[in-house]
Amino acid sequence: MVEKSGVSSSVCYPVDSLKKGNWVKLICGASFEDVADIRNLSLVYTLAGVDCIDCAADASIVNAVNEGISVAKDIVSLRSPWIMISVNDDVDLHFRKAEFDPSECPPNCSRPCEKVCPADAITLQRVTSDEGLPLEIASSSKLEGGVIRGRCYGCGRCFPVCPYDKIRSNTYVRCPTATAELLKRNNVDAIEIHTSAREINSFEKLWNSLADFVGHLNLVAVSLPDLGESTVDAMNKMYTIMNPFLKCYNLWQLDGRPMSGDIGRGATRDAIAFAARMSSIKDKPHGFLQLAGGTNFHTVGGLKEAGLFQTPNIQEDGNDVHQAERFSGWPYASIGGVAYGGYARKIVGRVLNKMQSEEGPAHIERYPDYLVEALEEALSLVGPVKCYTLS
Ligand code: SF4
Ligand code: SF4
Repeated sequence: MVEKSGVSSSVCYPVDSLKKGNWVKLICGASFEDVADIRNLSLVYTLAGVDCIDCAADASIVNAVNEGISVAKDIVSLRSPWIMISVNDDVDLHFRKAEFDPSECPPNCSRPCEKVCPADAITLQRVTSDEGLPLEIASSSKLEGGVIRGRCYGCGRCFPVCPYDKIRSNTYVRCPTATAELLKRNNVDAIEIHTSAREINSFEKLWNSLADFVGHLNLVAVSLPDLGESTVDAMNKMYTIMNPFLKCYNLWQLDGRPMSGDIGRGATRDAIAFAARMSSIKDKPHGFLQLAGGTNFHTVGGLKEAGLFQTPNIQEDGNDVHQAERFSGWPYASIGGVAYGGYARKIVGRVLNKMQSEEGPAHIERYPDYLVEALEEALSLVGPVKCYTLS
């Protein structure tokens, strides 16, 4: 199937995908830590030909991604996607978990939190407090369960739906020392720093604590929201801080509407508008541009409508803005590619959930029917960016 879809003959070295504008990154999630799902997602999306897999900065998660890639490469001979770890310089939506104590919830609550969670990260059961008695005749009952911490990726959709205001947000900052240790292990190819870009001091502090360990990386990415007119100024300040230590490629992840890709067509508009504005600005710092935040099935169509899909980046004087690093005689694309997060996890996650409900926790390669179904979903998302041609 991989060969029939054209993946084997189309995938190239990840940085070449950035230059061509057909880079695809799978975002496992800076806070998503379900090791079994991450392994299977990495396997499926490696087979679909992604260029990079972005995951939490945690050794067990990096191991799971590596295992998924390795099993995929045993199935079909493909180049490895880069492994990227995500860290934050301050409070950030991507680095938080929902928390609540189910014993404080009214037992008869209709549990909208459970229904709204896109990650199936909340499970609750109503149980009787009178041991052994069925619910119908017990004098009292209570809720048990709560948030499955590893599955919660902090999207925040459960917070406003709780009628009793029981859900709290627990934010955290990844420890720079632990991240530096992870970078020393040599099985991480790239790092992404999530920043609000409003507190340059926090960014500088984090960068200074990591700069000695980024020398062997292939890519340093900065993920930032749209700050309107201040965006380029903030990017220039961050680039000035990073530049003395940058020995590899760098990328700006334009986070249009964080963690909203699984919602629908409207979610992708902010990401496209942000990308359109940034690609037209001349005095921005060096680095590839990549979309994220609201990316989904509609994103490639939106990029095409905006004239940004794999469009060469030519200045008004007719010169390639990256003249110093021409690629195959063709100018670099103005947008390097797309990162898919919640939507990518959702379409393959449906298959993983089905497999797990029938087989329990399982390695997807042991169930070829599920693997093929999951791969079809992954190819439906990756294929339009990579322009696979069915052979
Ligand atoms: S924050 Fe999002 S992922 Fe986490 S439990 Fe709430 S709805 Fe689920
Ligand atoms: S919606 Fe609120 S009160 Fe109801 S079960 Fe969920 S957390 Fe508890």
